[in-house]
Amino acid sequence: MADSGSTRRAALSARDKYNATAVAKTLVTPDLMILRVRTDEPRSVFKSGQYTILGLDGSEPRSANSVPEAIEAPPDSLIQRPYSIASTCAETQEFEFYISQVKSGQLTPRLFNLQMGGRLYVSKRIVGVFTLADTPVGCDVVMVATGTGLAPYVSFLRSHMTDRPETKMAVIQGAAHPWDLGYYSELTFLASVFANFHYLPTLTDDNDTWTGHHLRIEEMLKRGVLNSETGIAVNPDKTHFFLCGNPRMVENVSALLAEFGYTRHRRKSPGSLHIEEFRS
Ligand SMILES: Cc1cc2nc3c(=O)[nH]c(=O)nc-3n(C[C@H](O)[C@H](O)[C@H](O)COP(=O)(O)OP(=O)(O)OC[C@H]3O[C@@H](n4cnc5c(N)ncnc54)[C@H](O)[C@@H]3O)c2cc1C
Repeated sequence: MADSGSTRRAALSARDKYNATAVAKTLVTPDLMILRVRTDEPRSVFKSGQYTILGLDGSEPRSANSVPEAIEAPPDSLIQRPYSIASTCAETQEFEFYISQVKSGQLTPRLFNLQMGGRLYVSKRIVGVFTLADTPVGCDVVMVATGTGLAPYVSFLRSHMTDRPETKMAVIQGAAHPWDLGYYSELTFLASVFANFHYLPTLTDDNDTWTGHHLRIEEMLKRGVLNSETGIAVNPDKTHFFLCGNPRMVENVSALLAEFGYTRHRRKSPGSLHIEEFRS
């Protein structure tokens, strides 16, 4: 068993990997936050929709509203997890992340405990194929999210909103409560300014102050709400769908889209359905 001196030395070496600083933190709810970090060195140019790795040492304190972790993190190693970048791809030294706290998780309670000026690790690599790169000019784009699955779309919109004025774009965001709709103001504003952008939030709870949709995402598509409100067709020859977030939502919406002839996009077999699952 390691003595406390060697554990402390090992912990210090994990913290030596810290290469970024938390510069802004907004709690959307106690378990949902927008975190901005500035890396000590700029990163290479990346594509909106890609992700990077964040990390903190296992000896860092956890947030006050977390619970004991399901599997204890070793105090002497860097806990690392992937996170989609929500900021524009024009920024390569300051990055925004949209993170939900898994109360018994290893990393998120420690990320939620970060204060302004707190240090953390951000990988030098930004990777992923969940991008607009393979959507042909002329097609429409529908971005479906639950929870923090919205993050890559915020980057898409901040980076490319004005690139393709002829492309109709829509975000369908599913959440339980109105207060879970992070970026609601920004998306509502974009929809009011850009005629080709549509924002369709939908809630599953029974909040009677909410005058918007109360349908599951699959139900919205089945009932033709997308087409009637935006003019976008559920047709793989005309519209590319992006799905991101909860694995159950991704599974259900993928199954429905398959009935419309959608196939998953892969490098070797192009399709009109793009999927990113936040599975750990
Ligand atoms: C490509 C990619 C991009 C991602 N981007 C984001 C992002 O932008 N924002 C974000 O918040 N997360 C994102 N994730 C998920 C993230 O990497 C972590 O899995 C998540 O934050 C939990 O980490 P943790 O260490 O706190 O929990 P862990 O200790 O890893 O997990 C503890 C337990 O919680 C379960 N769990 C994991 N994630 C969730 C969840 N979201 N809700 C409920 N239970 C969960 C696990 O199955 C496990 O049983 C992404 C994942 C991938 C693969």
